[in-house]
Amino acid sequence: MVKTDTEKKRLQSELAQLPAVDELLHEALRREFMPRFPRPLVTEHIRKLLEVVKQRVLRENFKVKASFPDEGFWRELDEILTEFLAPALKKVINASGVVIHTNLGRSPLPAAAVEQIAAVAGGYSNLEYDLSTGSRSIRYVNVESLLCRLCGTEAAMVVNNNAGAVLLALSALAAGREVVVSRGELVEIGGAFRIPEIVTQGGAVLREVGATNRTHLRDYEAAINEETALLLKVHTSNYRIAGFTYQPEMRELVALGQKYDLPVIEDLGSGNLLDLKAFGLTGEPTVSEIMANGVALATFSGDKLLGGPQAGIIVGRKELVEKLKKHPLNRALRIDKMTLAGLEAVLKFYLDPAVVTEKIPTLRMLTVGSNELKKQAQKLHRVVKRACLGSEKVQLQVAPSVSRAGGGAMPMVELATFALFLRVQGESSARLEKYLRARSRPIVVRIIDDWLVFDPRTIFADEFAEIGRACQEMLLL
Ligand SMILES: *Cc1c(COP(=O)(O)O)cnc(C)c1O
Repeated sequence: MVKTDTEKKRLQSELAQLPAVDELLHEALRREFMPRFPRPLVTEHIRKLLEVVKQRVLRENFKVKASFPDEGFWRELDEILTEFLAPALKKVINASGVVIHTNLGRSPLPAAAVEQIAAVAGGYSNLEYDLSTGSRSIRYVNVESLLCRLCGTEAAMVVNNNAGAVLLALSALAAGREVVVSRGELVEIGGAFRIPEIVTQGGAVLREVGATNRTHLRDYEAAINEETALLLKVHTSNYRIAGFTYQPEMRELVALGQKYDLPVIEDLGSGNLLDLKAFGLTGEPTVSEIMANGVALATFSGDKLLGGPQAGIIVGRKELVEKLKKHPLNRALRIDKMTLAGLEAVLKFYLDPAVVTEKIPTLRMLTVGSNELKKQAQKLHRVVKRACLGSEKVQLQVAPSVSRAGGGAMPMVELATFALFLRVQGESSARLEKYLRARSRPIVVRIIDDWLVFDPRTIFADEFAEIGRACQEMLLL
């Protein structure tokens, strides 16, 4: 669009009305934006807001008011800067009923573990310092003895996560040699962790044996040769092969390994330290039961069924663990002080199996009874109903539903629960779900048949009121 000279002049004088950035910075200082916000950020966003006004003057014939910048300008700047500085990684209310929700950070830690982490993180610690001798020590000595006691092994160590633990074990024990794995166990875990690729990454050669559904002891035996380094078992965490299936007993595999002087190593995935059979769950063996079969080395996650921080735990025979400890990859995968602090606190709870399910949130959520869940769902129902002031637009009901363990633990187990089902007349549940997710205190729910479903299994008691507030807000959308 060609502008006439008079038009150009008018725009020029209009733009000249705008204050300079320096002037606005001065005013920002007077209004105490600094040091509340970092000065460079304030400058940057003042520039951006000014640019928006300039563009409006040029394109929309906007008239700069004499009162510019008004209170609205400063409020907007405040909001932008506050949002910019708010933590991007933040607390989320998990109403999905998926207990070990990998996308939501897996296991929430017990308060005692959080306290220990805070105590260690904010100052110096004896992370690698032996206080009795004043000399250097190894960072995981304390958790090593706890793990040995809990798993019945002679050695243990901890790395960054279980994927790292498996990679370290393969690199240290099988590089340049062959690893025998059943075709039924060539697992892919979320996030591109695949057994065939991890074996290759560890510098070893994969020798797959058997068929997808059936692998016999003789298949393993036929694959063994002078290049074989170890036999690898992998827990099929996130799927099941059902029907016409066969896998040799662990004891048989260990005996085969002994015959050829080969260690059997198992990637347990979750690895439970507590017998969950009493709670009607899985019947999967505990780590100590597995090790009692003669498994040489087992690896598992810290933040799945264990209920602790992200970590890769390795337990087993001393001479093998020593090799892993000395491998250069161990340095690259090493666990940090905050994780160690949290892990130690969590492991100590396992010393008393009678209280562990009360103390560790993941275990509490997995083992809570359905009577209690019903009570909690009814309580949530009351809280939400009160918050919505009995609005007739809101339909609420408590009904049976199903929660999941998640995190590749017990994939086939349906945990019976009672949930609060909610619908708002004239609103799609997809829109409401999105709204709940986008709040500054996000709430993650499931949608079933166009109802929003709040599963109390994964909701903490102190989060009920916030859910009430969120439902109240939804009515104003
Ligand atoms: C979860 C899982 C892993 C990966 O563990 P991370 O701690 O997430 O690294 C590896 N193997 C199996 C069998 C698993 O279930």
